[in-house]
Parts: sequence; C-alpha cells; structure tokens
Amino acid sequence: MSANLSTIAYIGAIILFILSLGGLSTPVTARRGNLYGIIGMTLAVLASVFGPRVTLAGIPWIVGAMVVGGSIGLVAARRVQMTQMPELVALMHSLVGLAACLVGFASYIDTSIVFSGAEKAIHELEIYVGIYIGAVTFSGSVIAFGKLSGKIGGKPMLLPARHWLNLIGALLVIYSAWAFLQAKTPADGATALAVMTVIGLLFGIHMVMAIGGADMPVVVSMLNSYSGWAAAATGFMLSNDLLIVVGALVGSSGAILSYIMCRAMNRNFISVIAGGFGTAGGTVVAKADGQPAGEVIAISAVETAELLREAKNVIIVPGYGMAVAQAQHTVYEITRLLREKGVNVRFGIHPVAGRMPGHMNVLLAEAKVPYDIVMEMDELNGDFPGTDVSIVIGANDIVNPSAEDDPGSPIAGMPVLEVWKAKTSIVMKRSMASGYAGVDNPLFYKDNNRMLFGDAKKMLDEVLAALKA
Ligand code: NDP
Repeated sequence: MSANLSTIAYIGAIILFILSLGGLSTPVTARRGNLYGIIGMTLAVLASVFGPRVTLAGIPWIVGAMVVGGSIGLVAARRVQMTQMPELVALMHSLVGLAACLVGFASYIDTSIVFSGAEKAIHELEIYVGIYIGAVTFSGSVIAFGKLSGKIGGKPMLLPARHWLNLIGALLVIYSAWAFLQAKTPADGATALAVMTVIGLLFGIHMVMAIGGADMPVVVSMLNSYSGWAAAATGFMLSNDLLIVVGALVGSSGAILSYIMCRAMNRNFISVIAGGFGTAGGTVVAKADGQPAGEVIAISAVETAELLREAKNVIIVPGYGMAVAQAQHTVYEITRLLREKGVNVRFGIHPVAGRMPGHMNVLLAEAKVPYDIVMEMDELNGDFPGTDVSIVIGANDIVNPSAEDDPGSPIAGMPVLEVWKAKTSIVMKRSMASGYAGVDNPLFYKDNNRMLFGDAKKMLDEVLAALKA
C-alpha cells in the first residue's frame, strides 16, 4: 500500500472513531457507534499491516501475534461474566500501558533510525514521557483490577508521609530525565530509563492503593484517560499519526469522564488523587437515645407485590447487586406488568451505580427496558416525595442518606438517590452487609423502609409470580 493510500485510510479510520464516540453518547445510537468503531479499527489495522512501513518479511510476525492475541481476547471475552467487565476493562488498560513501556524501550534500543540535534532530544523526550505514562498506567491498572475483583481490599492504604514519598518520586523522575537526556552512552541512558520506570511503576501502585472504595469510579475513568495518553505517546514514538489522534481521543474523553464522575460524587479531582476517601468503616447508626438503631423491618415477596399492585408511582433504583444477580430481565418483566396495569414506573440511575460508568444502563438496555423511563439521578431525585414505592435492587452506597445527613460520614457530600422520601422504600439485598465503600447505611433502619432479604433474581421472580397470581 502506498504512503498516500495509507494516509487516506488513516483519515477514514479517524473519522469513523469520532463518529463512534458520538454514537456511543446515547443508548439509542450506541449500536451504530459500536459498528463505526469496529469498521474504523479494521481499517486502521489493515492500513498499518499493509502500510509502507511494514516489509513483507514482517507480515508473518504480525499475523502470528494477532492470531495469538486475538485468540486470547476471544476466549477471555466469551468467558467473562457481565459482573467481571470492569475488571476486564482495567486489565485492558494495563496492557496499553505495558505496550507503551515496551515500545519506548524498543525505540531507544533501535538504532536503525539515527536522530541528531534537536530531533534526537525530542525523540528521547517522547520515549521518556511515553514509558513513564505507560508504567503508571500499567501498575495502576493492575492494582485497580485487583481492587475491582476483590483480590485486593477496598480500604485505602495510607502510608505515613505519603505526599512526601510522591514528591521525592517526582523529583527523582525529573532528575532521571535530565540524566537520560545528558547520557553519553546507551548504557547510561538505559539506566536512567530503568530508574524512572521503577518509580513510575511504584507511583501507579501507590496512587491506586491509596484510593478509598468510594473513589474507585474516578480512578477507573482516570486510568482510562491515562491509557489513551499512553497510546498517544506510543504514536509519537512510532511517528504514527493515527495512534496519536486515537490516543488523544481516548485520553480526552477519559478526562471528561473523570470530571463528570468527580462532579457526580461532589469531589475534587486533586483530593481524589491524594486518596483516602471512604477510609473509615462508617459511623454507627444511633437513635436519639444513643442506642444503635439495629431494628429493621423485613418484608416478603408477596407483601412487596401487594404494595406494588396498590402503587401509582414506582421508582426502581438498581445497583451492583442487580448485576451480580443478573436480575435485569425479571426487573423488566415486573416493569412491563405494572405499566400494563397503568402504574408509572421509572428507573433512577446514579452515575456511579455498579462498578463501571454506564453499568446499569447497559444491563437495562440488554433487558430491553425502554430508554424513556430510565432517568438520571438529577432528573428524578425531586420526585421521590410523590412516589408510592421506591425499590432498591442490590444498591447500597448510592442510596445512603448519611452522605447528606452525617458530615462525619466517609461519603459525606456525595449526592445520593433519596429513596427514603417515597411513601415506602424497599431494599432488596441478601444481608445487612455494607456496600463497596464499606459504610453503614441508615436507610435500612428508617420507619418507612422495608428489607426484602435474598438474592435479587430469586426474590424478584417471587414478586413477579405473586403479581401474576
Ligand atoms: P454497592 O456496592 O454499594 O452495594 C451493592 C449491594 O448489592 C451490596 O450491599 C450487596 O449486599 C448487594 N448484593 C450483592 N449481590 C447481590 C445479590 N445477588 N442479590 C441482591 N443483592 C446483592 O453498589 P452501588 O451500586 O450502590 O454503589 C456502587 C459503589 O461502587 C459505589 O461505592 C461506587 O463508588 C463504587 N464503584 C463504582 C464504579 C463505577 O464506575 N460505577 C467503579 C468502582 C467502584 P448483600 O451482600 O447484603 O447482598
């Protein structure tokens, strides 16, 4: 393929990626957006493999690597449960970081292209920055994978003098950059690169280990953004315009997502990175007389069905537990039945519900819940007082009133869905266990709240059967 044809293919791929991002912004156009992305990526891969920079002898290597990588990806994607998607995404981000590191070292060792003067300095700076972003992304994403999969505890690890440690690390990285750019021999340069890589890896580990459970959504979107910048840095090292543009698209959209997540949680980005949110185990819920308000009122599936049958307005708030139980299809069946009886049923989606951005929207779309009854938190939070029944399905942190009422709560200030303002709220979960942030939930003890204990899918099946009876 000639250089011109390859450039045209790259521009086509870039346009398709931009259309893809645009399509993915609403559920109605998401399928089309996905299709644009697939076509764009196919075009990009073909244009790269058959592009002017690949020799015929190199093609078997590339095809071999694609077969191995593609097969692993195919098996992983087929095996992964919907609840494991956030971990898989974190793992994918780590691979982008690792690739940036390896390409950086390869570019440094590669002597086939000789740079001199300012070009050499720019090329070396690209390598240095690329490897650093790659190292932070790689180790940070591996720790995020551990935290999301529960292999590493959600509690933040707060080292004494951690800000000083970060500062010393940053100074060492700057010093190594100077040493790298001044290096007289390749061995000296490689040593400076290795020192910086180790610090980058440690920084990634430290940064994510210090994040409290409730801040993980911001970190996940931030690592998403980093993976984009790592890809862009790889593009600079390889002088590949497509990779630069695509990396910048992912990097900037991830940064916007981090901003949205911060706003949704009423948090400041810098304090998220500084870590420690959701540190304590939560305050003990106490009555006015100082006694713990340990009493909850349980309800059965049949009683839940009765309450729903008499209701005019119902708001359903899904959370991570709905994903675990795979209860979305039964939720839809119940919604359909109630709507047929004239009940106004709507869904309230918290921006950080579940374990990845848009998690609940994906599940509800999969179950074919109509988009027009799926509302964002801000759109319907004022409607709870006029609601007869609010049903919380496997959600916890996102409906915790202590975020509003208790300034000492680790999640104080985070906006939550005010389900307790409905005439009756029903919480479906298996036990009294806390949510991801590890904070007690006073909602369970409120007078107008009922607990429907059990697996969400099983309990909803029983509610559906009782509604049909
Ligand atoms: P939570 O993790 O707060 O609560 C989920 C609840 O679901 C648990 O209390 C659990 O209680 C219950 N549950 C689990 N399995 C089942 C089941 N099979 N049937 C019924 N209930 C079940 O989830 P939320 O969605 O309320 O909040 C999301 C949390 O995750 C927030 O803290 C957010 O910061 C964090 N997070 C979000 C990310 C995102 O991007 N959206 C990324 C990373 C973290 P029990 O065990 O008693 O059943």
